[in-house]
Amino acid sequence: MSIRCPKCKGFWKKRFVKNELVEQRESLETVERTDEGTIFSNSPFEPNHGYEVKRLEQVRMVQETTRDFWECKDPVCGHQWTTEEYSEYEGQLEA
Ligand SMILES: [Zn+2]
Repeated sequence: MSIRCPKCKGFWKKRFVKNELVEQRESLETVERTDEGTIFSNSPFEPNHGYEVKRLEQVRMVQETTRDFWECKDPVCGHQWTTEEYSEYEGQLEA
């Protein structure tokens, strides 16, 4: 991420003001999960066996767009601008 003010190009002039949620939506995505387990042997002469089972699972994802507000610390410049950030995480929106 740039640390410059886009107008006066001054370094370290960028100050975070606030951010706000632009958009938030929920989607379903299919992910592959791996279950691991152990089958325990009844016999002392046979070792336990580990196993893996892959399965597909539908998970809810939340996609978020937030807008960050910035301003230049240089009082002569005083430029204000915004940037948008997109993020995605597993979860669901509050009903
Ligand atoms: Zn500036």
